[in-house]
Amino acid sequence: SLLRRGMPLVQGRKKTRRVSIGKVAVGAGLPVAVQSMTNTPTGDVAATVTQIQRLEAAGCEIIRVAVPDMAAALALAKIRQKINIPLIADIHFDYRLALASLASGADGLRINPGNIGEEWKVREVANCAREKGVPIRIGVNAGSLEREFIERLGPTPEAMVESAMVNIGILERIGFKDIKVSLKASDVARTVAAYRLIAARTDVPLHVGVTEAGGLFAGITKSAIGIGMLLAEGIGDTIRVSLTRDPVEEVRTAWEILRALGLRSRGPEIISCPTCGRCKIDLFTVAEQVEAALLNCPLDIKVAIMGCVVNGPGEAKEADIGIAGGDGFGILFKKGKVVRKIDQHDLVRVLLKEIENLK
Ligand code: SF4
Repeated sequence: SLLRRGMPLVQGRKKTRRVSIGKVAVGAGLPVAVQSMTNTPTGDVAATVTQIQRLEAAGCEIIRVAVPDMAAALALAKIRQKINIPLIADIHFDYRLALASLASGADGLRINPGNIGEEWKVREVANCAREKGVPIRIGVNAGSLEREFIERLGPTPEAMVESAMVNIGILERIGFKDIKVSLKASDVARTVAAYRLIAARTDVPLHVGVTEAGGLFAGITKSAIGIGMLLAEGIGDTIRVSLTRDPVEEVRTAWEILRALGLRSRGPEIISCPTCGRCKIDLFTVAEQVEAALLNCPLDIKVAIMGCVVNGPGEAKEADIGIAGGDGFGILFKKGKVVRKIDQHDLVRVLLKEIENLK
């Protein structure tokens, strides 16, 4: 169905090295992986596992959890037993938390060697990670750049890239190459500029995202533009949308970005009209109910929900199946052809049953 839409938006991916996080490999032109981060206290194993399972069902492929203390590091072992996607431990400052997370079976680490301290501590973490085949993501954040880079270059994309390159150097000097990098700022311009710069300087796979992007509207918009621009240029091997919301919304947004770019799709694509003066049914409720019912549907189909029979089926010719509202009724159509008339109260039920029959 992507071919019907003309030229793909992404015409080539930047070549990066392949890095495996548990069973999920990224880089080397592999499909862009979707990841998220929990917001439950990691030490609360039951709450964290429940959230990760909801994220898995929504299509999350890699999950990161904060490891602020030893209790959280120890909890990773129990969490990992109950989930099916790779688990990344997010660590700041204390190298002992990194070692404990590795002992608990973490599939990946997110640390900045620069804030772990003396080189022997970094060496110890890297050696342990290497033994276990665990990669390390260097996560540069514009809000917590090392003082030396800020003083020399200001809070600029160049400073973020310098920080990343120095941190990559620390790991590579001790022979550790299983690295990913992220360079996040809370504004789109700096984020995009930083990733463009680093993509020209290293083949390390890139974890792309706009950090602290905001609530639903601002966060989705900034993420779609920032992540979308980079992916369209072939930059980015795994993405994380960051929202001040339930992380399930992050995963849904990430998949919509990938779908809009024609990179990957997951489940039905729903197209629905904004309605206008011709619409005589409560289309917003119909669209909401259909969208909610199809959230975890595996079918790769296009479903149209249109407000009127005048333009509906015609406007949605490419849809596999859809409905168009009339006055007190709706019609069911398939591939732009009218199938039958349905009472408006039965529209959602009939449409969902017809979709069920497509499985
Ligand atoms: Fe208006 Fe009909 Fe188009 Fe919807 S499909 S926007 S109701 S003309």
